[in-house]
Amino acid sequence: MLDMMSVLMCPQCRGTVAREGDSIRCRSCGASYPVLGDVPQFDLPKTEAALNTTDVGGDRDHRRTFWDHGWEARFQSGDHAFLNNLKSRADWDAYFEREIPHLRSEGHVSVIEAGGPAIRDKIVLDIGCGAGAVGAMFGHSGARYIGIDHSRHAAMYTLRHLRAAGGDGFTAQGNAETLPLLDNSIDVVYSNGVLHHTPNFRTAMDEAYRVLKPGGRAIIALYAKNSIQFGVIRLLGFLRGKFSRRDQDAWMGEASEGAWRTQGRMNPWTETFSAEQLREVVRKYGVRDLVLRKNGHPIMHIPRVGPGLMRSSLVRRIDRLLEPTLGDMLVMSFTK
Ligand SMILES: [Zn+2]
Repeated sequence: MLDMMSVLMCPQCRGTVAREGDSIRCRSCGASYPVLGDVPQFDLPKTEAALNTTDVGGDRDHRRTFWDHGWEARFQSGDHAFLNNLKSRADWDAYFEREIPHLRSEGHVSVIEAGGPAIRDKIVLDIGCGAGAVGAMFGHSGARYIGIDHSRHAAMYTLRHLRAAGGDGFTAQGNAETLPLLDNSIDVVYSNGVLHHTPNFRTAMDEAYRVLKPGGRAIIALYAKNSIQFGVIRLLGFLRGKFSRRDQDAWMGEASEGAWRTQGRMNPWTETFSAEQLREVVRKYGVRDLVLRKNGHPIMHIPRVGPGLMRSSLVRRIDRLLEPTLGDMLVMSFTK
């Protein structure tokens, strides 16, 4: 069993922490973090009002609230509500029997780079654990799992799924830019489709690298700048007169996450990356065995028209052919 106290630290001062009743307290600075339903809360705002604010566009409290309310809605009645029906280990086993071959055929990072026997008994950190199905899958594969999410609902549901699937580990609410984890404590850092929503991407990468053990592997999937999907989104932005950097940034956040409208507001931040940019970001770490590949459906994810085009088998074949150059996800993996 993975003991959370063996890997946690204070994200404010990096001091050691100890469990005290319903909270975790820092022995150095005295900061106290509540533990709600077995989920430590490391980056909650100071007030309940700030926790629910949706009217301060772009700032940190707004981003957290956007994703938190978005996940809450998805778990209750949206795309991910079906996961709540998977209550027993047998339910999850049956789900994985269908889902893992599907993910493999899609070239999904969770099974290609991160899956299978390679993670057995490894401490796997999932930055932005989201729906929690992948967390449950890692637990199912024998990993000792840690899921961190800025959304307290995502952290809570992921723990529920992990436990129902019979997996070992814990989850916490926290911030990717100030991870509540000790240096050199993690065997595999995994993050899929998350860190492009973190305005200080380089800080989040510094944190991912810091917590990784020497010899550990990082597996990070991000939106690809050189892709049909994001090229079309940028073009649509220009056609709508989004010329300034600020307008372009707001448009990219909004247009990339159309399905995530939360209480009438759109996602405040999305960045896209080229392979060259990512190579430059990790150069200072001196990483080994750096691999970058494209994944995702270049045509299917074209805004509005993509799904319709994909009804043609010829288009589906072209979609597959274009994936290595124009896929919309860029998967980076490296060894510390
Ligand atoms: Zn502290």
